[in-house]
Amino acid sequence: MSKLKPPHMVRHLMTKGCMGEFASGTSAFNPDESVALVRYFARLAAERTPDTNDQLVEIYRAIGDVSMARHKPSQKLACSKGCESCCYQQVSVNGVEVFYIARRLRRAKLIGEHEARIAKKLASADRDSGRLLDPANPCAFLVDGVCSIHVDRPFACRAMVSLDLSACLRRFESGTGLIPYPIANEPIKQWLNVSLWTALRVNGFPPHSYELTAAIDAVLRDPTIERDWYAGDDRMAAAIDDRVPDHFPPSDALRALARI
Ligand code: SF4
Repeated sequence: MSKLKPPHMVRHLMTKGCMGEFASGTSAFNPDESVALVRYFARLAAERTPDTNDQLVEIYRAIGDVSMARHKPSQKLACSKGCESCCYQQVSVNGVEVFYIARRLRRAKLIGEHEARIAKKLASADRDSGRLLDPANPCAFLVDGVCSIHVDRPFACRAMVSLDLSACLRRFESGTGLIPYPIANEPIKQWLNVSLWTALRVNGFPPHSYELTAAIDAVLRDPTIERDWYAGDDRMAAAIDDRVPDHFPPSDALRALARI
């Protein structure tokens, strides 16, 4: 098994979360943490193996979870098990998460359990409704009101929390209104995504985000897609989430930061 030990700064990020200041409309990250993170992500991505792919995903989501917990608001989150309205929408994921989740389903021998719901979702005319919280558009992994891949759910889902249940329900039922969320979550998500995408792009990986169900379906059907994706050949083109712009090659400054 190929594992690259994280440097001290990244281990610290995984256990304590990022430093940083977050105020309305502004955020400031610690530059040393940012450089250590993007370099380590780039080293992992350069390995191009399933093990390092999965290590990258686990560290990406661990730092996100711990950082969001570290900067949690004083107000209590409104989210709880069985509160499912945020699971009725199209979920966007990056390629490394697709391979990770597909592998976890395969190892747990859970493919058969999900097959029918994945097929139903892919056949649904409402799949691309574009509406946030659309009662006609349940996630394929939502089972009896609970996320069936909760431990391994995509980072987009981990970052989506609410401070107001009534705002979620209003949005779910009428499609109107805004959902208040913790002020630090969006900048932390952006910071991690810029670090990850820099690492992927300097290594020549495809620049697309994917719709969760279609991408998982494709990789479960043909695991060789992962090998070709590492070589820059995108065979998940039919699953590209065109609501999300392609991730352009990083600037020279970010490229220099990611040098490995
Ligand atoms: S993956 Fe899980 S948390 Fe994310 S939308 Fe689907 S059911 Fe909800």
